[in-house]
Amino acid sequence: MASLLFSRFALLTVLSGVACVSPRASRSQSTQRPTLVVHFTVDQLRPDYLTLWEKQFNGGLARLLRGAVFLNGYQDHANTETAPGHASTLSGRFPRSTGIVSNVAGVSDPKSTLIGAHGAPASPFRFRGTTLIDWMRSANPTAKGLSVSRKDRGAILPFGRAKQSVFWYAANGTFTTSHYYGDSLPAWVDAFNNRRLPYAFANKSWDLLLDPSQYPEPDSAPTEKGGRDYTFPHPFSSDPAQAAADLAGYPFMDQLTLSFALEGVRQMKLGEGPGTDLLAISLSTTDAVGHAYGPDSREIHDQILRLDRYIGAFLDTLFTLRDSTRIVISLTSDHSVTPLPESKSRYPNQGAGKVNLRPVVYPLFARLREAGVDTAGFSFEDESILYLDEAALTRRGLRVDAVVRTFAAEIMKVPGVLRVDRVSTLATKDTTTDYVARRWLHMLPPDLKAAAVVTLKPFWYYSGVNFATHGSPHDSDANVPIIFYGAGIQPGRNTRKALVVDIAPTLAEIIGVRPTERLDGRPLRDAIKP
Ligand SMILES: [Zn+2]
Repeated sequence: MASLLFSRFALLTVLSGVACVSPRASRSQSTQRPTLVVHFTVDQLRPDYLTLWEKQFNGGLARLLRGAVFLNGYQDHANTETAPGHASTLSGRFPRSTGIVSNVAGVSDPKSTLIGAHGAPASPFRFRGTTLIDWMRSANPTAKGLSVSRKDRGAILPFGRAKQSVFWYAANGTFTTSHYYGDSLPAWVDAFNNRRLPYAFANKSWDLLLDPSQYPEPDSAPTEKGGRDYTFPHPFSSDPAQAAADLAGYPFMDQLTLSFALEGVRQMKLGEGPGTDLLAISLSTTDAVGHAYGPDSREIHDQILRLDRYIGAFLDTLFTLRDSTRIVISLTSDHSVTPLPESKSRYPNQGAGKVNLRPVVYPLFARLREAGVDTAGFSFEDESILYLDEAALTRRGLRVDAVVRTFAAEIMKVPGVLRVDRVSTLATKDTTTDYVARRWLHMLPPDLKAAAVVTLKPFWYYSGVNFATHGSPHDSDANVPIIFYGAGIQPGRNTRKALVVDIAPTLAEIIGVRPTERLDGRPLRDAIKP
């Protein structure tokens, strides 16, 4: 079957090649456009993981690192969570413009229940504007898109509002979608689910891929996973349904997501040409393992080695199904990660602690209530954004300026707080050098009633979090890899700064489609073959 497909494509390639040759054709015109874009988002991937363990890679990461590599890449916005990060990957725009400002205000949508599974209803109704798949389909209405992930937001947001094939993993061990996208699952998704692959993990366990001597990290840090199950091997439950539900925390979840994506390529005939299709794959286990065990753990090291092997096997199979010279690949992350303050780390987190702002914020809010301000008129979200409704304050004779000044003065007394910014003053800062101001500016849509934002010192955490996490505007959470490989790509390691919002315009240029709206990013010329 595979060889039959391959020869058909070889023939197509020859035919379309002939059609393109003309004496006046420029070099770029005579170069065949890719038939498939494959975009990977590895959730919580620190760029230094790729250099720390590069010598142990022999799979997909090893291959992609031979492409155009920007390790000085950034999610250049303040709230470095999964939803805003995924919304920027293929839109070329910051959260200020996509409208996706946090996980909480991400994809949850009571109106869009899941098909064939229980779980959080989800849709992209908060997403604003367009993404790469929309531009591709406006250039060629037959272009197909498939987006898959373990997480709903990881599958949904790279495609914006496009009603394409978008699937994610439900805790019952199946891939599903929501009623936003349709009323039933395609037959191939049902068939894949009916294989019940996740249930087979019962009684199995996650052990090290390589000999233990190949891992310099200690395997017994009690700050990992809340002090439970922090040494190898990590067993699955003996109950198949429980094993399927717990799979999300294991490397094998990424392997399953990639198998599902490959099945989609076969069944949806993605990349057969002559137009260009898009496959977006969000791999979520690095985030689960990073949260549970931290960026210094033996577990994250093993997860990244396995990710290398899984992506390698995926590409090997993809390249037998489709002409590898017609595929362009990109890889990035939705955010990075900061080590837990009390953990012993290879990163400079010494002296960092935790901050509890509630004892300061609650009394201030109590005073607003006593002054008769409607409780809908103020809130403090994500422990960093102060919302104030000017009309609600004015009705009680209060001024926003004065309330913000009091708030800032009190908050600044708390150890670990770096700064409090009045949102209306962010644009007056020198945003080339002041990255905190710049990332907050890129974060907040103008119609959001954010009055002030709080930023902690680098490596400090909010209290109540006892696992490694992310979410700050600092580089420890914002620095991510940006990699391109394959058709139209100029290989090379680039030390200059690149932004995640540059990915979509770069891919658009390579496949010859035009963005249909103004973007924040620009094509990365260093990555494109002249
Ligand atoms: Zn996370």
